[in-house]
Amino acid sequence: MRRANHDKVAAPTLVACPNCGEPAVPHRACASCGHYKGRVVKPKATS
Ligand SMILES: [Zn+2]
Repeated sequence: MRRANHDKVAAPTLVACPNCGEPAVPHRACASCGHYKGRVVKPKATS
């Protein structure tokens, strides 16, 4: 009984944010605090 093994598309690659320590996607602004490359590129959502 074969089964397809290509349903895992997005690899759960996460790194700890150097600012807040939350798991964040590498090479992206932290989803928690918005830090990236030593500065806040995406401030907290102020709605
Ligand atoms: Zn962060």
